[in-house]
Amino acid sequence: MTTNINQIVYSKKYVSLTRNELIEAVQSQISSKRFQHVLGVEQAAVQLAERYGVSIEKASIAALTHDYAKERSDKEMRELISHEKLDLEWLDYGSNIWHGPLGALLVERELGISNLDILNAIKHHTVGAEKMSLLEQVIYVADYIEPGRDFPGVEQVRTLAADDLQAAVGYETKQTLYYLIEKNRRIYPKTIATYNKWVANP
Ligand code: GDP
Ligand code: FE
Ligand code: FE
Repeated sequence: MTTNINQIVYSKKYVSLTRNELIEAVQSQISSKRFQHVLGVEQAAVQLAERYGVSIEKASIAALTHDYAKERSDKEMRELISHEKLDLEWLDYGSNIWHGPLGALLVERELGISNLDILNAIKHHTVGAEKMSLLEQVIYVADYIEPGRDFPGVEQVRTLAADDLQAAVGYETKQTLYYLIEKNRRIYPKTIATYNKWVANP
């Protein structure tokens, strides 16, 4: 079975908007390039959701909203972090790390989405987590393998994802760490916690 994503009809259980209205709300937040990425993530996520028995509606909503906060200004995000007494450590890592957790917060506030599984999928989509539901794994992997992505290791993750979602999570985590180390980038501790659980777990 292959769902045509344009035929997905939302039940209103998770968001009061229709899928088209949600798409418009997301489109208004990000550049057209990132918007194309988001549509690719939805396509990949819905495919994985079908394969692994995850709700297609939740996968579609989480995928469409996962990068909702990615283009908010540093100023707004810094203010939000201090006003809401959030993790000050995020300030040391920048938007790549905070757009997930702050995205979950803004999606809840501005779009009225309160389902915890969806919010956790948004929150954890960049660095993963030691414990991830199937939906969280689907979004984490879909973000990496969507059709517009082209980087070393992406084909291997695509192949693994068709068969073994957990193996895909592990392989992706390892590739991300290789990449960050190669670029001398700071590793956020939760990225290492994800590696220890999904890759190095005996
Ligand atoms: P995108 O939002 O669709 O571009 O993808 P992601 O949200 O998955 O990742 C955003 C960026 O964060 C990517 O360039 C990742 O390589 C980077 N990233 C992931 N983990 C870490 C980390 O631990 N530290 C740093 N500095 N960057 C990270
Ligand atoms: Fe992201
Ligand atoms: Fe993304």
